[in-house]
Amino acid sequence: PSAAGHVLIRGGINLMKMASGKLRVAVIGAGAAGLCCAHNLLARPSIYEAPVVFETTGQVGGTWVYTEGSETNSHVHSSMYRDLRTNLPKEIMEFPDFSFDPSVPSFPHHSKVLEYLEDYTDKLGIRPHIRFNCTVEVISPVLGDGDSVQVPWEVTFRTQGDAHPVTQRFEAVMVCAGHYSKPYIPDIAGMETFQGQVLHSHVYRYPEVFSSRSVVLLGSGPSGVDIAMELASYAKEVTLSHRGSPLQWTLPKNVSLAPAVVHAAPHTLTCSDGTELKADTLIFCTGYKYNYPFLVPARSNGHLASSQESLGANNNPQPFNLLEDDEFLGPDMGQGHLPPLYKHLIHARYPTLCFIGACKKVVPFPLFNCQALFFLAVLEGKCQLPRPSQMLSESREELKKHLRDGLPLKYLHRLERDQWKYNRCLEETAGFEPLPPVLEKIYEACKSFRKADPTSYRELNFQIVNKDQFRIISS
Ligand code: FAD
Repeated sequence: PSAAGHVLIRGGINLMKMASGKLRVAVIGAGAAGLCCAHNLLARPSIYEAPVVFETTGQVGGTWVYTEGSETNSHVHSSMYRDLRTNLPKEIMEFPDFSFDPSVPSFPHHSKVLEYLEDYTDKLGIRPHIRFNCTVEVISPVLGDGDSVQVPWEVTFRTQGDAHPVTQRFEAVMVCAGHYSKPYIPDIAGMETFQGQVLHSHVYRYPEVFSSRSVVLLGSGPSGVDIAMELASYAKEVTLSHRGSPLQWTLPKNVSLAPAVVHAAPHTLTCSDGTELKADTLIFCTGYKYNYPFLVPARSNGHLASSQESLGANNNPQPFNLLEDDEFLGPDMGQGHLPPLYKHLIHARYPTLCFIGACKKVVPFPLFNCQALFFLAVLEGKCQLPRPSQMLSESREELKKHLRDGLPLKYLHRLERDQWKYNRCLEETAGFEPLPPVLEKIYEACKSFRKADPTSYRELNFQIVNKDQFRIISS
């Protein structure tokens, strides 16, 4: 120890520990990512105090909590729809150290995933550490010179029904707040004049309410394709408007494809090739924005004042901007912001702050586990990070290259095929057990079955034979 309660950990991160010598870590969100972080923290009781998991709702599971809501109610929480079955087999979805019930099929209904997460929470003793109905409003570093020293965080949260927020200090913060609940809606010329119904897949729940309507879906990602297939049995006609390469499967009679919608008039939607579509309903299946309101204290609210006070109390009144939007990301570009992240995970300037699951097009649960283990290895000094100034310049270079290559900003954390290399990099750097190669093989097989026929691939059942091999059993 360099001073009372101050410990320099091997690896260069300087952390203020509690008198007990253990680190306090805050976890924001009790979805799959937050539960995984909580489990890994609880599994190391000699290093960490029991974590505090903040959850704004009254339940664990995040995305997997289905809430009934009308198709126009924009206040529904999760983006789950009534009949959703997973688009990844449970054999690769599960966390490496906790299996799904063997009686569950490979592509279960969403309620089975929620049951799995509830089981994970209870069997691994996580529930007592979750503060339900408790929203994190602001997180701020108490002190930091922005380069070599990391010190505690202040987390300001408010429990439902309480008039005042409360602030608590932690040595590290794991942000697990998800990124599938703030709809992204692209600008379409003339959209404000369109007289039909407009909604985002975020609020779609079931197909019956679209009986006899002409529905245009914009976007052919997993939600666009699934919802089109659900609607086919009820709607008069369904048009899947998309930008990508032609889709290869046989469509139901009343489903057709069209290029992207580029213009809207009161009763017509016009596609990029000039085709005109008549639509009663337009559903945007255009994905989601990153949204971390607790990183940007509103200038006029009391929380920023309280953060500034604490900065002042530490004789370090320098302003902070966790998003670094001016110098790093530039304008929002409509996709939402993320701060500069090292390895898609660690805040490049404040390395005791991480974002679990910011990556897109991945197999989420196993990746959450790799990210959590990597971050804990960093906190424990088992693997060393570059200096923040170097991480910042690497993240900036990565961003510049991405934009130079003509890729949209929203793909900055899209991993897809690279996810397996990425997981291996985390495993090797931090020295934890690697994911078995069979996961990648199942993922690739599933992807090609889905591409060939998105209506039938969920009837397959996968069985893992060993760490390299699987077999398929069709039901
Ligand atoms: P979330 O599940 O969104 O959890 C975040 C939690 O943080 C929520 O409980 C939220 O209430 C809480 N929170 C947010 N802000 C705050 C705050 N300020 N204070 C306190 N709490 C806060 N993945 C698969 O593996 N297989 C699939 O088949 C699959 N299908 C999907 C289908 C749909 C329609 C969607 C939207 C996603 C799907 N996914 C699927 C991806 C899925 O989102 C991830 O698997 C995973 O559940 C994400 O977990 P998370 O913990 O990162 O986020």
